[in-house]
Formats: sequence, C-alpha cells, structure tokens
Amino acid sequence: MALHKTRAVVIGRRAFGESDRLVDFYTRDHGKVRGIARSARRPRSRFGSALELFTLGEMVFFDSGRSELVQVDHFDIVRPFVGVREHLERLGQAAWSVEVVARLSAERDPNPALFALLVRALAAMEVSRRPTRVAVCFGLRAVDLLGHRPRIDRCVACGRLHPFPDAALDMTAGGLICPACRAGADAIPVSGGLVGALKRLRALSWEESLRLNLAGALDAELAAVLEGVLARLMGRYPLSSRFLTQTRRFLSTVAEPAPSE
Ligand SMILES: [Zn+2]
Repeated sequence: MALHKTRAVVIGRRAFGESDRLVDFYTRDHGKVRGIARSARRPRSRFGSALELFTLGEMVFFDSGRSELVQVDHFDIVRPFVGVREHLERLGQAAWSVEVVARLSAERDPNPALFALLVRALAAMEVSRRPTRVAVCFGLRAVDLLGHRPRIDRCVACGRLHPFPDAALDMTAGGLICPACRAGADAIPVSGGLVGALKRLRALSWEESLRLNLAGALDAELAAVLEGVLARLMGRYPLSSRFLTQTRRFLSTVAEPAPSE
C-alpha cells in the first residue's frame, strides 16, 4: 500500500454505493487518477465541499497497486474556482476543458505541463469576460502538449509551402494538406486567415494570446476548427459542446443578466 501526495484538479465525479463518491482527478505527478472517496456523500463528511468539479487541491491517496481505483485519504482545497461554477458560459467552457483532458490523456500518464496549463486556464476563466477564448487557447496548447501539434507551414504530404488555396487540416497526416494530396482524407477545411491566426497564437505568450483581437468570423472559425480537431482525436465531439450550444440557445431566449464585473 503506497501513500502519495500530489496537487490535483477534480475533473469528474459521481455517486457510488450508499454514501461514497467516485472522483476523477487530473494530478500533477500521476496524470489521470480515479479515486474513491469513502462516505463523501454523508453530511459532515471530512471531504466537505472539497470534491466539487474544477477544485484544485492537495490530494493524499493510497494506492494498493491491485486496482485502478485509489483510496482518497485527504483532499485539501487550494483553490476552489468558485467563479467558474457561478457563470454559465464559464462553467460550460471549463467543463469542455476538463473533458479534453479527461478524454485525451491516459490513466497514470503524468504531464506536469498539461496540469499547469489546466490550472492556468481555470484561473483565467474565473475572471474572464471571454471564456471561449480562454478555452480555445487552452485547447490549442493542450493538443500540442498531448503530442498532436499539427504542422501548419506546408503540406505534410507533398511539402508544398503554405499559403495555397483550399488548405485543410488532416490530423491523421499531422497537419495541413493541399487539395492535390487531400483526396479521400477526413480533413477540416481552413481559411488562410485561420492558418495565420494559429501561427500568431503559437508565437504569443499565454496572456497575449488571451488578449489578441481577431475578427469575429476568425474567432468562430478557430473554435469550430479546434472542435473538429478534438473530435478526430477523441473519436467523437466533446459532450460538453452540446451543453454549451444548449446554454447559448437558452440564454438567447431570456434576457441575459449583465456580467458582474
Ligand atoms: Zn500536397
């Protein structure tokens, strides 16, 4: 029975048994870990409200080595990111971000840079007026950190230098593809402006990329292309995308309250 201590973010949770909770964590030192928090659903549980989605904490767990499940001993809140949960668009974008991590990372495969990026994104989302931009910047960098960084300077099949018309992104081939090489490929069409925006975002610091002003159409294309990239890497569209679409549809039918900032 080994005892471990690590920083972790709650990326999923559900009720288990009579009073326990199954919790998915993304940890700094062990990657994705699923744990059981005994009696976490009892009133006066020692976990209190610590195991809420998105919470960053200091986690202590036991690993028997015999099961995928670890026993959560302690989870002490470092930062609860309450502001993310109190705002629908932020909540949706944060749910989308943790889904990207949950679905694209393997169990027990540590990636401290991705952990740091997730914490940074949640911190930015908590105060951002543009949670969609935070999520897009997070998603682009997460794809790179997970080893899928697409090549965008030339056609990955024939080497033709970009710009060329009718470019598309082929994630199986690993980057841009020209019309002559594209036949039959499951590729995502991209505009020249989009390739330019991707290059700029790659060159900028995190803070600068959050502030970069893009034409509205480019912002929308960026989000759609990223969604297509992730769907191909995950094998399906993120579930939280549907939540975001429904939330926006709902908010457009009621008067949206002014942001509190
Ligand atoms: Zn080509």
